Amino acid sequence: MIELKTAAEIEKMRRPAQIVGSILAELRTLVRPGITTAELDRVAEKRIGEAGARSAFKNYKVGPNVFPAVLCTSINEEIVHGIPSEREVVEGDILSLDFGVEIDGFYGDSAVTLAVGEIDEENQRLLEVTERSLYAGIEQMRPGNRLGDIGAAVQEVAEAEGFSVVRDFVGHGIGRALHEEPQVPNYGSRGKGRGLRAGMVLAVEPMVNQGTAAVRVLDDGWTAVTADGRRAAHFEHTIAITDDGPEILTKV
Ligand code: MG
Ligand code: MG
Repeated sequence: MIELKTAAEIEKMRRPAQIVGSILAELRTLVRPGITTAELDRVAEKRIGEAGARSAFKNYKVGPNVFPAVLCTSINEEIVHGIPSEREVVEGDILSLDFGVEIDGFYGDSAVTLAVGEIDEENQRLLEVTERSLYAGIEQMRPGNRLGDIGAAVQEVAEAEGFSVVRDFVGHGIGRALHEEPQVPNYGSRGKGRGLRAGMVLAVEPMVNQGTAAVRVLDDGWTAVTADGRRAAHFEHTIAITDDGPEILTKV
């Protein structure tokens, strides 16, 4: 069942969404060659505490695996779910930051991929196209459209540029839980799938690869990397569907 949120519930969802958006905005100012992903995680954890919120990711369990940090930090060929560590990012890397918080019973979730110092043209293009594919998907989030319209729009943008979209991970409904129905694939067919209605709140999160869409998970049980070792980018927003169209709750 897809839970429809009332206007009052969407109002409450602004708070976790804005906390996530504003912390991500601060983190992006800190990303530079030499910073470790653990340092970024410590800053995020401190800010989450100061906001009176709770991390949605720390201690998140999938089977026997428990996620140990508040941020997912995924570097270069890592697509999603990378674990913060004492590894320093270096000039030319791309770094994805993904996290969520809960406050007052509601969740927000957002992700961004950032350049570390100067990156080459092909990586710059990957970042721009992935973010553009997210906005193309968001643009479809109107009552009367269908879930397949979102995925098709994302896929068209990414594939027109010669990139591939990951199938193994998808976006999701969000609200009183971090992951609610429906699943929101980054691929699909226009006019297919569930009807979109005002009151749906979805986290749309394209993961776009330079090479193959195939994914491999490392022995840490979390870090998903591209099977061919080429790079990947990931952008995500939490968005409410209203009668007037999409409202991006995590935008600051
Ligand atoms: Mg996320
Ligand atoms: Mg998400």
